Amino acid sequence: MKSISKRAAGIAPSATLAVNELAKEMRARKLDVIGFGVGEPDFDTPQYIKDACVRALEAGQTKYAPAAGMMELRKAVCVYLQKQMGLNYQPGNIVISSGAKHSIYIALAAILDPGDEVILPAPYWVSYYESIRMNGGVPVIVETSEDTRFKMTPEMLSAAVTEKTKAVILTNPSNPTGMLYSKEELEGLAQIIVEKDLYVISDEIYYALVYNGCFTSIASLGEEIKAHTILINGVSKTYAMTGWRVGFTAANPDIIAAMTSYQSHSTGAPGTMNQLAAAEAYTNGEEEKRRMVAAFDERRKYFVNRVNSMPLVHCVEPDGAFYIFMNVKNCFGKRFYGDLVTNSDEFTKCLLKNALVAVVPGTAFGADGFVRWSYAVSMENIRKGLDRLEDFLNHAED
Ligand code: PMP
Repeated sequence: MKSISKRAAGIAPSATLAVNELAKEMRARKLDVIGFGVGEPDFDTPQYIKDACVRALEAGQTKYAPAAGMMELRKAVCVYLQKQMGLNYQPGNIVISSGAKHSIYIALAAILDPGDEVILPAPYWVSYYESIRMNGGVPVIVETSEDTRFKMTPEMLSAAVTEKTKAVILTNPSNPTGMLYSKEELEGLAQIIVEKDLYVISDEIYYALVYNGCFTSIASLGEEIKAHTILINGVSKTYAMTGWRVGFTAANPDIIAAMTSYQSHSTGAPGTMNQLAAAEAYTNGEEEKRRMVAAFDERRKYFVNRVNSMPLVHCVEPDGAFYIFMNVKNCFGKRFYGDLVTNSDEFTKCLLKNALVAVVPGTAFGADGFVRWSYAVSMENIRKGLDRLEDFLNHAED
């Protein structure tokens, strides 16, 4: 047999999904594993959104959509962006894709030539790194730490720019750290982005899940930075619609046209009934959204208090999204149930094996020394999972 392509062979599988698979396999062996790995709301999609999908089906909305997405949804996205963020976009600035993940992939395809550099602050969401590489780009990692609340400063950004830099990726609020950039912090970054003539891919998929402070879209800071912004968002996290696969990009029409060409020859636009359900979510979703945010906030507070009262571990309080990025460095060099733990991969495996708790190692986000917990999990399981963590930590031996 001929081998698979070098490009495909170089892609690392998604570590978040890998942990989930392992946890599933253990569950199949009747082990009571609690999963904190995958980033999706545990709530079901609200009924009024499902109803819109059923209505679309019954009205015969079962055919191909235009490659850039249905006009109904692109218009609803424009109204939504205006209402939520004060952003003025027209349907010609919008392309609908099969989830924000796909939006990011084709945005990179639209702007990268081989060897172009993309600045990626670490800890980063696992798929950016591979998406940049799959599109022939070179990820340039900017390390951040707890000292700057895992945020990239304008100085850090400026120091990473070279002649080959094409873009920087900003996740606000962040997966995996939950950090939120303030308006002032974004202004500092925007100044460098405009000055150095870069694109900023602003992934705002968690924008609605904010508990401390106020969300600002970098595109709202003025016409100059807006022209440099490729804004990504979608319905997955805000409306508990991960399985529906609807995301969007707002950007200048040239980028939208290039992305649409890519999409027209690969996936096409997402299912028409899903797009019409997403339009309904964007038009009438405020109340359900508030309910979910309140539930996540309660879990977040409980999580942070518990983790920061345990031995050997701590976390910075997140402002948004639904993740806790827990520092486990003090566990390194210790034994748990006889197993020596020297990095976050080993910590994760040891925790899964001995405490039946699945989390994601920091190595998946370019940050060994940490593990990520999703709190998009029921309160009951959070309590149980944290009891197990505490018991596990109490078994540490030198
Ligand atoms: N961006 C970030 C930062 C994410 O965490 C995720 C989902 N884990 C996505 C994008 C992708 O979302 P979607 O379901 O819309 O593809």
